Amino acid sequence: MSSNQTDVVFFDENGLRTDQRKPDEIRPMSIKIGVLSRANGSCYLEWGANKVLAAVYGPREAHPRRMQLPNKAVIRYRYNMQSFSVEDRARPGPNRRSSEISKVSREAFEPVLFAEDYPKAAIDIFVEVLQADAGTRTAAINAASLALVDAGIPMRGLVSACAAGKVGGKIVLDLNKPEDNYGEADLPIAMTEDGRITLIQMDGHLTPSEFEEAMALVQNGCRQVLEIQKAALLEKFASVMNDDEDDI
Ligand code: UDP
Repeated sequence: MSSNQTDVVFFDENGLRTDQRKPDEIRPMSIKIGVLSRANGSCYLEWGANKVLAAVYGPREAHPRRMQLPNKAVIRYRYNMQSFSVEDRARPGPNRRSSEISKVSREAFEPVLFAEDYPKAAIDIFVEVLQADAGTRTAAINAASLALVDAGIPMRGLVSACAAGKVGGKIVLDLNKPEDNYGEADLPIAMTEDGRITLIQMDGHLTPSEFEEAMALVQNGCRQVLEIQKAALLEKFASVMNDDEDDI
């Protein structure tokens, strides 16, 4: 977020954004589930110019053993940005930003996973950002959600994530890079299928009424993402379901 946004033009004469989207439109999303053969579950997801890869392992015995919990599985989430994923090379390895994103993203999944059913086990979620264009934490959560399903890990439902924000004085959905860089606010959220919010962060400033407007928009964005996630699952598993029916 930058306070120096006065000279940036965010909307054309038709009210469309720099990438021709309407204020309430998300970027195109494409998904491929089950792209890695060594992981228990995986998903490759593109959202606008973002490209992320999620891999899930587990539930498996937690190592090192001192990390084991006697009454439930430990859930670990590692968000990593590849050095080639951004314009200025990102310094490899964990940093404050990636640690924070990993923590809040892990917490976004805790309510939907049945950790108590797997004492001493670990559920490991790894996300690699291959190309970044704003919104990578939400793209990563959407991919991780589908990789968890692909791994066959029981869940109460999917987690879907999206951001809203304020650019040029207007509330818009799913900020792209210039909007994220020069806009006034960014509000990423994640929510469960039944609308329970499991992640909420905010960068910048919104008035209470702008916050309400952004929340309504971003919840609608998450529902749009959920439909795309469900369609990707159906595409991946419909053939398996059809095969099962043939066996009956
Ligand atoms: N970014 C970057 N270098 C970094 C971190 C971020 O170029 O070290 C860019 C990247 O395009 C990212 C965007 O800034 O998607 C917004 O970053 P933010 O921290 O808001 O997280 P995100 O929106 O990706 O979840």
